[in-house]
Amino acid sequence: MSDTVIEVKNIYKVFQNNENKIEALRGIDLEINKSDTLGIVGVSGSGKSTLLHIIGTIERPTRGDLLYSIATSNEPVTKKINLFQLSDNELSTFRNENVGFVFQFHYLLPEFSALENVMMPCLIKRMKKKEALDLSFEILDKVGLKNRVNHRPGELSGGEQQRVAIARAMILKPSILLADEPTGDLDIDTGMSIIDLFIRLNEEEGITSVIVTHNRDVANKLKRKVKLEDGQIVNQYV
Ligand code: ADP
Ligand code: MG
Repeated sequence: MSDTVIEVKNIYKVFQNNENKIEALRGIDLEINKSDTLGIVGVSGSGKSTLLHIIGTIERPTRGDLLYSIATSNEPVTKKINLFQLSDNELSTFRNENVGFVFQFHYLLPEFSALENVMMPCLIKRMKKKEALDLSFEILDKVGLKNRVNHRPGELSGGEQQRVAIARAMILKPSILLADEPTGDLDIDTGMSIIDLFIRLNEEEGITSVIVTHNRDVANKLKRKVKLEDGQIVNQYV
């Protein structure tokens, strides 16, 4: 059985600002396997974030297809879904259930504890509070923060705050985690421990991750890498 979970097919993205036309992505083809931790590397402006947003369906491409082979709550048998044929509502439901996002700046709510920040997606989904609390504890334990659950973001280090953000991205058990420069705001050792966490979640929980980084050492830790240059893939190496 094929291990492919995501197929990116001939994706183009053009941004049109007044007279200015920017071709951010120019014919991207990429397969992502269930077992991957995939790094997307390239200089600033090469299209990394745009590609990640399209893979995560928060942005639609100008043309091209995105196929996920995935079982969903509606369809428990693995099925190939052509995502950009879905309506905006269907797409956001799909995204909420299946994709977790982590950004460079964690966007935690400062007045809430780690536990409350992590359980927020459950409350939005109207899960019972007790169930959400239990899940939140469990996930914070997994990311190594069992002893920090009642701390507010301001009482946590940068690396710990990013762990909270990863826990929040994981709480609804997405099959894929997407991260845009998740170590960009951290010192190198802390950044590396965050990457180790993504690798462990991949090995232990089977979570596929795609991580945008312009740090070579970070990229070298990941199983696979794709290099972007001027909106095109110029290098794929295992
Ligand atoms: P990276 O993440 O590799 O730094 P981006 O994907 O953010 O690159 O951007 C790729 C190109 O697309 C850049 O030239 C950028 O200026 C342009 N771009 C990105 N988002 C927009 C937007 N919303 N409107 C116009 N241009 C954009
Ligand atoms: Mg970027």
